[in-house]
Amino acid sequence: MATKTAEPPAHSRVPNGPTLLRNYIGGRFVDGGRPFDVVDPATGRVHAIAHEADQAIVDAAVAAARKAVEGEWGRMTLAKRRAMLNAVADGIERRFDDFLEAEIADTGKPHELAHHLDIPRGAANFRVFADAIANLSTETFEMDTPDGGKALNYAVRKPLGVVGVISPWNLPLLLMTWKVAPALACGNAVIVKPSEETPSSTTLLGEVMSEVGMPDGVFNVIHGFGPESAGEMLTSHPGVRAITFTGETRTGAAIMRSAAPSVKALSFELGGKNPAIVFADADMDAALAGLSRAVFLNTGQVCLAPERIYVERPVFDAFVAGMKVRAEAMKPGLPHDAGVNFGPLISAEHRDKVLGYYRSAVEDGATVVTGGGVPDLAGEAAGGFFVQPTLWTGLAHDARVCREEIFGPCAAIIPFDGEEEAVRMANDTEYGLASSIWTTNLSRAHRVGKAMEVGISWVNCWFLRDLRTPFGGAKMSGVGREGGEHSINFYSEPTNICIKL
Ligand code: NAD
Repeated sequence: MATKTAEPPAHSRVPNGPTLLRNYIGGRFVDGGRPFDVVDPATGRVHAIAHEADQAIVDAAVAAARKAVEGEWGRMTLAKRRAMLNAVADGIERRFDDFLEAEIADTGKPHELAHHLDIPRGAANFRVFADAIANLSTETFEMDTPDGGKALNYAVRKPLGVVGVISPWNLPLLLMTWKVAPALACGNAVIVKPSEETPSSTTLLGEVMSEVGMPDGVFNVIHGFGPESAGEMLTSHPGVRAITFTGETRTGAAIMRSAAPSVKALSFELGGKNPAIVFADADMDAALAGLSRAVFLNTGQVCLAPERIYVERPVFDAFVAGMKVRAEAMKPGLPHDAGVNFGPLISAEHRDKVLGYYRSAVEDGATVVTGGGVPDLAGEAAGGFFVQPTLWTGLAHDARVCREEIFGPCAAIIPFDGEEEAVRMANDTEYGLASSIWTTNLSRAHRVGKAMEVGISWVNCWFLRDLRTPFGGAKMSGVGREGGEHSINFYSEPTNICIKL
């Protein structure tokens, strides 16, 4: 059973030793069952030890969350709830450097990237959803009744109750808060199961919740793995009403099965095999800048990153040459070293997987334009899980690396002749997350933008989005849409009240 730890609660640092990451249940940090190592992927060293939640801890988390929804949190005025969300954003900003170090230690990503993307977005998510619930409305219908009278129908929005949040390792704070913020905005209580690879920033958010006076049980954290561990205990728990998940498509399928007996609401943001299309009329400098960023940002570990780039034949050679120059300018190394803009992959296991794809591309006849192996790094980084930025040409459209999600810093560049062929090849995938089209032809931009079978279709840009817009995947890239009112619709449910007048 969970035991309460001494103050100060969690995330305590052993001098010169690993950080201890405990579960956060009902406003308290509690030890778990089996501890497990958390490795810094930039060096390969253990930097933290997390406590795996057992069934008793998961049960305690559900009970604490339920109590919060039925208690002070459930009764809180909208104005106060919005103030709490903004206070959480302030709290993240106040401890910006702690979040930065936690995120960098877990992921090994360059300091610049975490500083400009992950941590600010973590705070911004709370502000966006504090705003999103400011002016909520529901529909009202006055109807004629069979007896010649009237009845008034109106809907009231209510929280779902206890929401399970399962998050991945690539953008840990950003993607976790993207789910937690709207869930809390709607009045739910959450239980977060962060990735076992990146539990630090979620644990730290528990500290912030305590610091800002969030009522106990509104935000809970359980650590552990997926199958037969905290993840599955959460998805199968009868006391959890909804699961919101970001991760691999096959994990989504497993969660669907596990959540089915208790018929939970599900929102899934899943894997992708995203295409980019570069037309001959594109602004070539912009396309090269945009797509080199898209392929190599976060070492390719972005669900929206293109791993297939279709280029119209007249500009194919120029595009490949330009991408090669940009790939070779990437600087791998330790997160805090000057000029480093390219981090490691998340784990030794993931590096082996990506290198397996690098070999597979060669076996399938690829010409390796650049990369294809492991960079030669000295010092501490020599123990990190680095691979080279890699580009291929000469691959058939149905080669394995053109079909399966790799989640690494690599792309196959394939020539096309004409818009129809480009659209056909781009859509020839079981996934449907994102696409990025580069053209200066306005009609084509609208036409091809719409023809893409994806959740988000970018034109002359990538990774740009107003957070109020719908976000999600088509085909096997997701279930449902989040963002702005789409999130509100998922994390709340209306009760229609029909009054005979
Ligand atoms: P993953 O599916 O391996 O793990 C994600 C989370 O699910 C982790 O917390 C893990 O512990 C948990 N989990 C695993 N098996 C489980 C089970 N059976 N029951 C309950 N929980 C389980 O994904 P990952 O490797 O952490 O992340 C990379 C994947 O995430 C890629 O496929 C990427 O495309 C996808 N992703 C999608 C989006 C999006 O918005 N669509 C965003 C980021 C990442």
